[in-house]
Amino acid sequence: MKKDKKKSDERTDIRRQAEDVLKGKNTDLKKLSSVDAQSLVHELQVHQIELEMQNEELRRTQIELEDARNRYSDLYDFAPLGYFTFDKNGLILQANLTGANKLGIERGNLIKKPFSLYIVPDFKDAFYSHMRQVFNTETQMTCELMLVDKKGHQFDVQLESMPLRDIDGNLLARTAMSDITERKQADETLKNYAIKLEDSNRLKDLFTDIMRHDLLNPLGVIKTATEQMLHMETKDERMRNMLQMIKRNADKLIDMIQCVSMYATLESAEKLERKSLDLNEIFIAVADNFKLQLEEKNMTLEYTSKGECFMMANPMIDAIFSNLLSNAIKYSPAGRKIKVNIIDEREHYKIYVRDWGYGIKDEDKAKLFTRFQRVGKEGVEGSGLGLAIVKRIVDLHGGKIYVESKPGIGSTFTLLLPIMASKETEK
Ligand code: ADP
Repeated sequence: MKKDKKKSDERTDIRRQAEDVLKGKNTDLKKLSSVDAQSLVHELQVHQIELEMQNEELRRTQIELEDARNRYSDLYDFAPLGYFTFDKNGLILQANLTGANKLGIERGNLIKKPFSLYIVPDFKDAFYSHMRQVFNTETQMTCELMLVDKKGHQFDVQLESMPLRDIDGNLLARTAMSDITERKQADETLKNYAIKLEDSNRLKDLFTDIMRHDLLNPLGVIKTATEQMLHMETKDERMRNMLQMIKRNADKLIDMIQCVSMYATLESAEKLERKSLDLNEIFIAVADNFKLQLEEKNMTLEYTSKGECFMMANPMIDAIFSNLLSNAIKYSPAGRKIKVNIIDEREHYKIYVRDWGYGIKDEDKAKLFTRFQRVGKEGVEGSGLGLAIVKRIVDLHGGKIYVESKPGIGSTFTLLLPIMASKETEK
């Protein structure tokens, strides 16, 4: 151990002497033995190479650091958001180029200026309270303000500030500023649109109410009076024809008004109240109303069901049967047959309404359930609302409807109506 220590001390001594030699302080080279001198030179060479390598590494690190600093300041300056550093009084201590450009002020001229200079007066308090919150709670906060740039152009911004401390420990706020003018404008447009929509909905409701009460009542009076006059004995054929025409048109108007007001009600309804109703009983009552029309066209109605078919439904469900039955009669030549089946498929009822009438072209099928779509049946009276009403009622019951049809052969409307109400469809 002692021997090692001695050797190490000697080498340190030699190295020190060598360094002195290199520094020119000691020229007494002769003191060194030639072996010592050789090993010293070698050691010095190694030492010098190491130093050069370290120098080179230092130089490279400096370049990298400079590069990173440039990259960081590019990122900071040209970031899509404006960045500011504020002191607790709201003075600007730092700003990136994006932020300065947004305000239209040269960056140098912003430093030490109060940010409130660029805030629309009504929003200044909001900024001060935002700053207070950040500094008092030392947590990240956001606020929305309206700023004004050098040219007087106003714009909406969102500030997101987080607290940070400088090297002296002073509390500052680092704030990211994003322009939200477009979003604010879109919000405003949407708000106005919602107000307009509400207005036009109110107008629609008012109009539907007027139709239902103020138009339907006088029309009912015209219809009844005409029917009574038709029952009176009159030999005047012209008069009879005119009375029949009045009755026909009154019926048409009543039907139209009922359809429109029903559709208006259904369109705005999101859910329907439901109770347990027997589809079998409902269908029989509806079919009874069509007896006369079936007779007039010499048509027969075949109906099969297992008997009672209870399901959770709204009483409006009868409009499904009346519209499909009315169409099957209207769009079939005289003398044809109509078949209706209600099949219990455990979770839902499958209902077929089948006719052997004019049929529907493939290209027209997609439009059928859209309101006011009448497809190539101009000779037959109708509002173009019947199937739209049917579809809406089916939808509100969580069901499905589809049609299979061939022109000249006939049509089958198939419905699937869930027996139990689901949460989405029950009020
Ligand atoms: P409307 O019967 O009042 O015109 P609908 O909405 O009930 O209105 O029907 C839309 C269109 O669908 C009708 O104009 C008709 O062209 C066609 N359509 C409906 N049901 C049948 C059917 N059973 N057979 C043939 N065409 C039909």
